[in-house]
Amino acid sequence: MKKILIIEDEEPIRELIKLNLTLAGFETLEACDGKEGLELINNEKIDLILLDIMLPQLDGYELLPSITEKNIPVIILTAKDGLKDKVKGLGLGADDYVTKPFEAMELIARIKAVLRRSDKKIREIRFDNIQILLDQHKVFKDGQEVELTFKEFELLRLLAENKGMVMSREKLLQLVWDYEYEGNTRTVDVHIKRLRKKLNTDKIKTVYKVGYRLED
Ligand code: CA
Repeated sequence: MKKILIIEDEEPIRELIKLNLTLAGFETLEACDGKEGLELINNEKIDLILLDIMLPQLDGYELLPSITEKNIPVIILTAKDGLKDKVKGLGLGADDYVTKPFEAMELIARIKAVLRRSDKKIREIRFDNIQILLDQHKVFKDGQEVELTFKEFELLRLLAENKGMVMSREKLLQLVWDYEYEGNTRTVDVHIKRLRKKLNTDKIKTVYKVGYRLED
């Protein structure tokens, strides 16, 4: 069952959306302000977000980067005369918008359309003008394909999927090379060096005496 997060501060609207989504067979989560929304975005597995723009704490625009970073599809809920909101929202990565007040049927139709599109979307991770296509096993820097060996790709994928977190040499060795013992961590260092060179990036940071971390 697809899980949809409703971030909307007006309770009657939130409840009405929740009711209609439940009837349409979706699971729902609700947040009544931006801060609560952000917490759910960071801690729950969500398939799509309905995002109001005018919200207490953090507004919709402030939430959009955190949502698109996680590749969660998002539909903006805007006021009737909110043309500027729509344009700005779409520019910031929203997938669609719905104008309030809206018909439940229209909302459901748009949700289904966005979910269909996102299911087909290519799984990718981006940082520093580098694009990693996970299913195709391809990497591009500034739009140019970079040839990586299988191990180099796997190493990069692990760092990218755990962006911001320190990965120890032992962990990387174990996951990429399938080694259970603690020798040969030099292998990791050598591959990291090659990755940095091939990708021409300084975002793969050495964490002294521990391992490596990919920075955004
Ligand atoms: Ca509002």
